[in-house]
Amino acid sequence: MMNQLKDFLLRDAGDENESGRAVYVLRVGTLGECVYFILFAVILLLFGRWLDSLLPLACCAVSLLLMYFTYHRQDRRHHTSHCLGAFYGITTMWIITTVILFGWDCGIQHLLFVLLLFVFTTSYRSIKIKVILGLIIYGLRLGLYFYTTRMLPFFPLSMKLNHALQLLNTTTVYLLLILIMSVFAGDTLRAEGKLAMANQKLNALADTDPLTKLPNRRHALKYIGECVHNSSTPICPTVAIGDIDFFKKVNDTYGHEAGDRVLEILADLFHKTMEPYGLCARWGGEEFLFFFEHLNMDNAKIVLFELLDKIRVTVIPFGDQSIHVTMTFGMNDAVLRAQTPEEIMRQVDQIIMKADEMLYLGKQNGRNQIVG
Ligand code: GH3
Ligand code: MG
Ligand code: MG
Repeated sequence: MMNQLKDFLLRDAGDENESGRAVYVLRVGTLGECVYFILFAVILLLFGRWLDSLLPLACCAVSLLLMYFTYHRQDRRHHTSHCLGAFYGITTMWIITTVILFGWDCGIQHLLFVLLLFVFTTSYRSIKIKVILGLIIYGLRLGLYFYTTRMLPFFPLSMKLNHALQLLNTTTVYLLLILIMSVFAGDTLRAEGKLAMANQKLNALADTDPLTKLPNRRHALKYIGECVHNSSTPICPTVAIGDIDFFKKVNDTYGHEAGDRVLEILADLFHKTMEPYGLCARWGGEEFLFFFEHLNMDNAKIVLFELLDKIRVTVIPFGDQSIHVTMTFGMNDAVLRAQTPEEIMRQVDQIIMKADEMLYLGKQNGRNQIVG
């Protein structure tokens, strides 16, 4: 039931030019006022004031018409602001007329607080205009108060009727304020949540290589920098650069798509192998960086020898072809200590450069091997 009502109030709410929240709050407010006008009329009828009850009934009819217009757009661009203007107009007219007719004691002027909240939550206008509208509402309330201190109401109400209407007005205003604020607060929290998720996704995208899904060079450098920075003592990692042998030939023989497939399957193998030890990143093209955070050269070499064996026997199916590749690795270890971020990056550059030199030696020595 509540969900159906919410769906109804949210139907066609907002397009690219407008906020869905403004239409939603407007419909909540208009529907709330319709109920309020009916109850107001019923109370007057119960007290035998059937002629007076025509006024709230007429306001209810106008509000229903406004509700209808929020669903039927003529000029899409400014539709909501027109409907909001009508809502302000109806509510203001109602407050002024009834306070003059029935007096201050039945509390109709409390509805001005609802208007104030509307002004600040539903419009994209500048804060200056909102403050001006707020001041007009403030002036209207004071004006009505001082008017009623000097002038008697046209149709005075009995004490009991005043109490009943005061109860209705206060309750309506509280309910509408709570409703509007919960819509607004929920909306803001949802928007913040969405923004945080979008930021997380963007960060992940910026750090991930789209083909292999491995961290990219940017993320790898950040990761190593953080490892050094977060450690109170110097760290002694081992770094290796692995490069696929004769990869150009793979592309030339089987096509670029097959080359991509090789990169994807090997990247998966690297990721699984490196998970317990540190990180494997796509360094660029067919080159990969292996960062062993806590392993010395000897232990890292054992892991890489096992990996090289696995690469040698891995069969990469592509269509009806089977592709085999080998890799060459260059390794190096170093002591990295936390200093300035620039100094850390300089140390990291050096250790990777040394690993690269080892890789070059491996390529010259016939490939398919580990040098370090
Ligand atoms: P070497 O054993 O000396 O490393 O020889 P190589 O052929 O692997 O090295 P070279 O640097 O001559 O060629 C690297 C090739 O890798 C060339 C480039 O087209 C290919 N390559 C780089 N990135 C990608 C990619 O994302 N997908 C595919 N399919 N190929 C890529
Ligand atoms: Mg290569
Ligand atoms: Mg290369």
